[in-house]
Amino acid sequence: MTDFKTALKELSSDVKIKENEPLALHSTFRIGGAARYFALPESEDQLVAVLRAAKLSGERHIIVGNGSNILFSDDGFDGIVISTCQAKKISVEGDKITALCGASVIRTAIEAQKNGLSGLEFAYGIPGTVGGCVSMNAGAYGGQMSDIVIETKYYDIEKDKILVLNNAQQNFAYRHTVFTDHPEYAVLGSTIMLKKDDPAEIQARMNDYMSRRQEKQPLEFPSAGSVFKRPEGYFAGKLVEDCNLKGFSIGGAQVSEKHAGFIINRGNATSKDVLCLIEHIKNTVFDRFGVMLECEVKIVGNV
Ligand SMILES: Cc1cc2nc3c(=O)[nH]c(=O)nc-3n(C[C@H](O)[C@H](O)[C@H](O)COP(=O)(O)OP(=O)(O)OC[C@H]3O[C@@H](n4cnc5c(N)ncnc54)[C@H](O)[C@@H]3O)c2cc1C
Repeated sequence: MTDFKTALKELSSDVKIKENEPLALHSTFRIGGAARYFALPESEDQLVAVLRAAKLSGERHIIVGNGSNILFSDDGFDGIVISTCQAKKISVEGDKITALCGASVIRTAIEAQKNGLSGLEFAYGIPGTVGGCVSMNAGAYGGQMSDIVIETKYYDIEKDKILVLNNAQQNFAYRHTVFTDHPEYAVLGSTIMLKKDDPAEIQARMNDYMSRRQEKQPLEFPSAGSVFKRPEGYFAGKLVEDCNLKGFSIGGAQVSEKHAGFIINRGNATSKDVLCLIEHIKNTVFDRFGVMLECEVKIVGNV
């Protein structure tokens, strides 16, 4: 086996690589130990080169966007973390926007508004990348990525091929897609189709969604958003609140007083604190309501 850095140098010499990079700096939870390698490709070609080099080296690897739906272990990740955040080009053509996987979805929503394109307002305030949001089918306020994505280009690491899927082929469901089923697929970029509308009206809707977030969500603390998926027929936050768990904490991890669906980092939370709190919430809700909550947040590494 070739080592990762040598393999990458041969494929693409100018990709930025950091070693022993603290993952807490790359997660909105502000939690996580060091990654042995942290790669920052800036283009589709560089991203594919990093994925090829990772495969050639036989190292464990994971692709991440803005780390806004991830709990990294305090023990870090003994392998390659590939951050897409620098592969962030956005282009607008008529009523379509094509964005590389690392483009911020908030920035994409702003770009849409400037061009008088409506449909992405719901995502204004979701702190993820286009790749992360498409792969999770992120959604809010009645909208979701599956409503607007017409095409996604991805790299199949196993087959070493770049392929394209239309909307139906992405198997979009609630916080679920073909990409959540296939970790060997890396989203390279997506094209969304929007509708012409008055920029002022689009801006007004974006402002409304943002102020609703500011009012209801604990945005002043690090978190990974809603911890649990919405169980059929219930709201996770309401179940947690009805168990009187608002404000309950383990170590530095606390159920938000403002929104019981969020776990916040009070400043010194460890990944173990968060995981123990998740277990406690799941057990309490199950004992009281017979509903087993499922985590929306992805847990990476041995927590
Ligand atoms: C304050 C706050 C509010 C939030 N509000 C919402 C909300 O309203 N609605 C909502 O749905 N979510 C919300 N989230 C959660 C989060 O922002 C979304 O899940 C978002 O889609 C994650 O994007 P990301 O780029 O940060 O992905 P990451 O957290 O980096 O990764 C998430 C998953 O996607 C995978 N992934 C990332 N990029 C790629 C890629 N290019 N190819 C393949 N797989 C990839 C990762 O491996 C991981 O499994 C919120 C989070 C916070 C902190």
